[in-house]
Amino acid sequence: MLDVIPIGGVKEIGMNMFILRCNGFNICIDAGVIFPSSQYFGIESIMPDYDDLVSKIGNINFLFVTHGHEDHIGGIPYLLKSISPVIYVAPYAKELITAKCKISTGINPKKNLRTIKFGEPISEGPFTVEYLKVDHSIPDSGALFIRTKDLNILYASDFKLGNKETADFLDKVNTIKNKYGVDILLSDSTNAYDDTESIPDNMVFDNLNQCFERAEEKIIVTLFSSNIERINQVIKLSKKHNKRLFISGNNLKLHMNIGRKLGYIEDDGGCIRPETEIKKYKSKNCVFLLTGSQAERNSAIVRLSYGYHPQIKISEKDMVIFSSSKIPGNEKTIMDAINRLSELGAIIVYPDIKDVHSSGHANSRELSHFIDLVKPKFFIPLHGEYLHLKSHVELAIKNGVSPDRCFILNSGEKISFKGGHTFKGELIDVKKLYLDSDSNELVDKKIIKSRMLAALHGVVSVTVLMDKKKEVIIDVEISTLGSVVNKKLQDLLSGIKKKIKEALKDKEIRKDKSKSLMEIENLTKREFRKIYQDKPAVIVQVILV
Ligand SMILES: [Zn+2]
Repeated sequence: MLDVIPIGGVKEIGMNMFILRCNGFNICIDAGVIFPSSQYFGIESIMPDYDDLVSKIGNINFLFVTHGHEDHIGGIPYLLKSISPVIYVAPYAKELITAKCKISTGINPKKNLRTIKFGEPISEGPFTVEYLKVDHSIPDSGALFIRTKDLNILYASDFKLGNKETADFLDKVNTIKNKYGVDILLSDSTNAYDDTESIPDNMVFDNLNQCFERAEEKIIVTLFSSNIERINQVIKLSKKHNKRLFISGNNLKLHMNIGRKLGYIEDDGGCIRPETEIKKYKSKNCVFLLTGSQAERNSAIVRLSYGYHPQIKISEKDMVIFSSSKIPGNEKTIMDAINRLSELGAIIVYPDIKDVHSSGHANSRELSHFIDLVKPKFFIPLHGEYLHLKSHVELAIKNGVSPDRCFILNSGEKISFKGGHTFKGELIDVKKLYLDSDSNELVDKKIIKSRMLAALHGVVSVTVLMDKKKEVIIDVEISTLGSVVNKKLQDLLSGIKKKIKEALKDKEIRKDKSKSLMEIENLTKREFRKIYQDKPAVIVQVILV
């Protein structure tokens, strides 16, 4: 029997993680994070609570990484604090995991990491796993062909079709299908409802070239830092147009270093110059490659848009090229940055107006072709919000998969395969942890909730002064932050003061610090809710004088 359990990446973008279990033996595929929207006040990323997860599903001794994007590896530095699995990984993601562990948790993952070779099967317990090289927007990306005694599974994580590199992948899949057959296909749904023609990388290059020809002043290009193919295009164009290229942003520099180490970065012929030399060259002879394609807080492009970048300033006729898509949820933040740059005088080029980016994910036509090629018996869509998953299932049905053999799963929802039948099992509650950007520590839901309450409904601070013996209530002070001060509020606060004094007449509450704090907090929230239909964040302190 095989159990398939998505931990994340279904009905959400990011936090991709899947568990496969056979005869009680778990393997895990990927351990990514979600980058949350700004409504998660001060939270940099979200990941599963790995301690809690292991307590519910058992240990994970083997982790297979498909590729190095953060939504597939971002949780690994934190996962290694809880467990210590063998991590199978291709060279590019291996370098990234090592670097990210050093930056975020200080853990050295060397003893965990095993470098895979594409096409060479790995046997662990009842599983045999073979990496198949796919074309995606980061080097060394792989799909996994996984065999157990009874079932053959094709796990097609992020991939695209259409470029020349995909022919080998499709040939390999065809061979697998003919030799073994594919029982279960799990496949990337990111662009499942996008049926627009995909843009080949050479067309992106031609369009970027036109931008370089048209530019009258300096050119600024922002892109996904891991998109080595696109970075190489910018290097080629800088050489071709005899411009100097400057790199800004730590993540971009990290990827360029790894790309160079592994031989993936184009020879720049000396056109890449250190930032200290910027002033040596005329503005119109310079190209800047910057982080911040998603307008991330503190990224180089955002600092530039506010005029805070230490080395670069926007001037009239500068050209800013967004060579990247907008990840769902980031649209507004990106448009805000674009508007600020435009107001400073920049000419903006982004994929909505010119094809200066090609997606790393197969579109609906390519996915359709892929399902038709694989001809799976069962189908589980991966990586996407509900609409993406549903659109992908519709494609599977159109291509001959029976509707009762297509499964849109929830996080933590187990599905078991045995003897050609399926059973839905128990739903595991996947608890999440939140990485706080200020402290760089993982926090739980309670902190997020109190930040949300404070941001949406303000803060109420209650201070109770009591004598040292806790016999007499000397005073109750209440102050608010973020509330409109008017008679209604003042009446409410006086009412709360009276109620607090009343409640503290109860000796049992008054003498017990935690009881009195909780009573005052609950009472204050309750009274606010009666008048305003909302609950502010409440801070209570009892001072003995
Ligand atoms: Zn990816």
